[in-house]
Amino acid sequence: MFNTPIQQLRTNYCQNNYYMKREDLIPLYLGGNKVRKAVLFFADLAEQGCDWVVTYGSESSNHCRVVANMAVAKGIGCTIITPDDSKTPRANRRLVELFGAEIIPCEVSAVAGTIQDALNTLSRSGKRPYFIPGGGHGELGTQAYITAYQEICAYESAEAIHFDYMFFASGTGATQAGLVCAQQLVGDVREVVGISIARKNPHGGDIVTAAIEEYLQKRGLSFDANELNFVDDYTLGGYGHYNEEILGTIKEVLFQEGIPLDRIYTGKAFWGMKEYVKRKRISGKTILFIHTGGTPIFFDNLYKQWEGAGQ
Ligand SMILES: *Cc1c(COP(=O)(O)O)cnc(C)c1O
Repeated sequence: MFNTPIQQLRTNYCQNNYYMKREDLIPLYLGGNKVRKAVLFFADLAEQGCDWVVTYGSESSNHCRVVANMAVAKGIGCTIITPDDSKTPRANRRLVELFGAEIIPCEVSAVAGTIQDALNTLSRSGKRPYFIPGGGHGELGTQAYITAYQEICAYESAEAIHFDYMFFASGTGATQAGLVCAQQLVGDVREVVGISIARKNPHGGDIVTAAIEEYLQKRGLSFDANELNFVDDYTLGGYGHYNEEILGTIKEVLFQEGIPLDRIYTGKAFWGMKEYVKRKRISGKTILFIHTGGTPIFFDNLYKQWEGAGQ
């Protein structure tokens, strides 16, 4: 659908060849994997004749920013339910406000109820609300990354190369679920490695497995959960936690390649990939890193973030 560019990187860390698929360059709504997913959710919303969108996410959420942007572009209402933990203003949160979304703060423990209340209130006032799960999770989110996988395969045949590994930041797991489903559908031999940015196993991996099974079972296929590679060794303290090495990695990629990574998703995953490659002694391989976007986060604390590790 978007056929985002794939480019070779200059680094040859541990004697491997590295490529990057630039999902951050999707030419709409500031790019990123959330755009690829949201486009499908909004098509479904239109098909169902809905006129209001409700979703959930943190103040750093690319998903909420993209949904609020698409809603204002399409002239429909938008409600964002979010944990109210704002200490520093975040670019994504500011953009959500700028797009005029209704923001409902709530405790993490009260999310499900708050979503239901918001949907009920909208329905009572004559609206037709459409709910998108946090992060764009669900079958449409999975579908989005099946398409991305097909783009990668088309690139491989055009360039006569084969990616032995695919690495990317894994959050809710829709991106990983889509890539793994596509791999299962065509039977490609390679490692699809999700670097968890927050969740721990078994919980984190189970959610990805469930999404994969949901998709494949409908098509009469099964999935062996042992084949999933959801790596939780680089989550540090959890969502938003980072260290000096991640900041160093972001600087290195920015200086050498001119590509912005962020400390919550892509910078953490790129650092995690390097650690994984080193620890597993992976060498002489061709590796694809999928840049899942998040450009506004790169600019959050652009000056401050180099000062030290933190959250
Ligand atoms: C949401 C997000 C992810 C995680 O994607 P999932 O499909 O939720 O696993 C990775 N990178 C960026 C930049 C994101 O915004």
